This record gives sequence, structure tokens and C-alpha cells, in this order.
Amino acid sequence: MDKKRLNFSVGPVMMQKEICSIGGQQIPYFRTAEFSGLMNENEALLKQLTKAEDAGRVVFLTGSGTAGMEAAVMNAFTQDDKVLVINGGSFGSRFQHICEVHGISYEPIYLKPGESLTETELLKFDGKGFTGLLINMHETSTGVLYDMEMVSRFCKKNNLFLIVDAISSFMADEVLMEAWGIDILILASQKALALPPGMSFLVLSKAAVKRVQDVDVQSIYFNLKDYLKDGERGQTPYTPAVSILIQLNARLQMAAEKGIDKEIERVRHLAQYFRKGISGLPFELLSSSPSNAVTALVLRNINAQYVFEKLDKKHEIWICPNGGDLKEKVFRVGHIGNLKEEDYDRLIKALWDVLEEVK
Ligand SMILES: *Cc1c(COP(=O)(O)O)cnc(C)c1O
Repeated sequence: MDKKRLNFSVGPVMMQKEICSIGGQQIPYFRTAEFSGLMNENEALLKQLTKAEDAGRVVFLTGSGTAGMEAAVMNAFTQDDKVLVINGGSFGSRFQHICEVHGISYEPIYLKPGESLTETELLKFDGKGFTGLLINMHETSTGVLYDMEMVSRFCKKNNLFLIVDAISSFMADEVLMEAWGIDILILASQKALALPPGMSFLVLSKAAVKRVQDVDVQSIYFNLKDYLKDGERGQTPYTPAVSILIQLNARLQMAAEKGIDKEIERVRHLAQYFRKGISGLPFELLSSSPSNAVTALVLRNINAQYVFEKLDKKHEIWICPNGGDLKEKVFRVGHIGNLKEEDYDRLIKALWDVLEEVK
């Protein structure tokens, strides 16, 4: 039997062979016209695939997704702002924490694990003097995909500066940066982009570029003005994760050739394949509006940590455990990265085996 280890976690995920082989090569010197050319291409491709406006810009930040989240908040908001934070789990909490540390006034909208954001809930904050909104389009800790059309309507009506963390959404669910009026879109390398961890990418609207120029940021590494300036000639102010940027170029080229819709369809298909395949197993979906990227499952009569351990040790399969209050009851299965139907067949067989054993 093929005992290749399978990774169904939510990141880092399984990478394509072509991407792995780039990672095995020597790293080129990067203050060159050739590397600048590749970076200009990366910027154009990211704007194209996120459906951003032509006048938008991209910042390439070496630092995991959280660095991107913090940089976005620091460079867009000041003490004069009052922002709404959608907090449906650990990534929503992170935005809240970032606001707290940087002294940005905020109001959290708390959602229970798996709960969707409703228009009724949002409209309670209509016309209340807010200036911005922070949301994780997909709250990866619970698998909930928020209704971005609705969020977008609300933000346009209230003229809110909209920051969207689409770290686990881009390439798994549809992202329409310009149509939704997103000002800063946050992406990271290790989720559906299926690259090594270590980089985040911020796509900025024209209005966001202007905002960044006006905000006085007390930081050197996170001052996006320098990234925008150097980015005009395809460079970054500090040494970036060069190999990831080369891998990004290959990945984006492939996605653009295939079409982003096909890429998303592939992930959606795998999610549906898995969700159908587990009927009969004692699991329930945590969310009624799940993303394509992740299935969060609530377990009946069996401990989620136990299932994680068994799959890891006996079957050489990683799923993704939850933390905090959900630790014993919930686990997540990812559909992002280089996975196939056969991989899910093997996972489902292993899940039956683990359940057989506890009987
Ligand atoms: C993974 C993830 C992040 C980033 O986490 P890092 O560990 O800093 O890369 C942020 N937001 C969401 C929604 C995520 O899924």
C-alpha cells in the first residue's frame, strides 16, 4: 500500500512537484533587472487573479500571514478611526488583538463557532460612525465562509475602509476585490497558493495606496510606503524570501493559464467529494455555510484529539486539530494544496478504521 504521508491540514499544504523542485535550487541574487521583471509579473498576475482595479498595487512582505494582517491595520488606521471587527474564531480574535496593541478603537461582532454573519447583525452598526471593517473572509478556525456580497453592501453604504483577510480563500473561493470594494486584501503563501510558508501579499486599491501615503507609521519593517516606492521598480526594501517569490511566479502563471475559476472548481469538487464520502460516519458539519477550503467536523462520541493522533501515527495522515474549547470535539480537513480524490478515499478508509477500533 502507498504509505506516502498525506497532509490535509490547512497550511502548509502539499505542494506541486514543479514548485518543490524550484525550492531545491540555488537562490539567485535579486537586485537585478531579471528579478525585477519577475516581480512586476507577480504584481500583475496577483491583481489579475484577485480581480483588482488596474490602479491597484501589491506589497510583497516577508513574514507569515499575521505580518500581513498587522501591516494592513497599522498602515490604514489611526487613533481617529473606529473599526468593526468580525470575530467568529481565532483569526477574528487576532484582528481584534492587533487593534488593541496598536490603539485602534474597535467594536467586535462576536459569532459562535460555526455561526454565519447575518445582515440583521451588521445593520445594528449602520450609521454609527464607524470608519472601517476588518474581516477574515473565511474564518479558517471554524470553516465558515462569510457572505462577502452582503459585507460589501454594508461597507459601501457606510463608506467603510474594508480590509479583508483572504489568506485561506484566495484560489479556493471566489475573490472579487474591485467589485466588492475591498481596500486591502491580505494573502499568504502557505494556504491555497500551496507555497512554502513565510510570505504575505497585500493587494491595495487605489484609495488604499493613497491612505498608506497619508498615515504616519511607527515602524521600519512594516512601513508600506517603502514597499510601494521600491515596488515601482520591481524591488522590495529588504531581502525578501526570494525562492518563494520565484515559486509564486510559477504558481500564478499556471493558475492564469488554467483560469482561476477552474482552480477554484477543483477545490470545490474535492470539498464536495469529501463531504459526500463521510456520510455514515458520526460527524456533522460545524458550519452551514462552509468554505471550499476546509471542512470543520463536530464529532459524536469520539474524541477529536484521539482521531488526530491515530491518523498521524497509524495511517501517516495529518488532519488539522482545533484548539481551545473545540479541541476535543472538532477537527478540520483541508481541501487546498495538491490533493486528489484517491487521497480522500484513503482518508475516509482510515477514518472508518479508527472508528472500528474504538467500538
Ligand atoms: C493561516 C491564516 C492566517 C495566517 O496565519 P500565519 O500563521 O501568520 O500565516 C491568517 N488568517 C487566516 C484566515 C488564516 O487562515
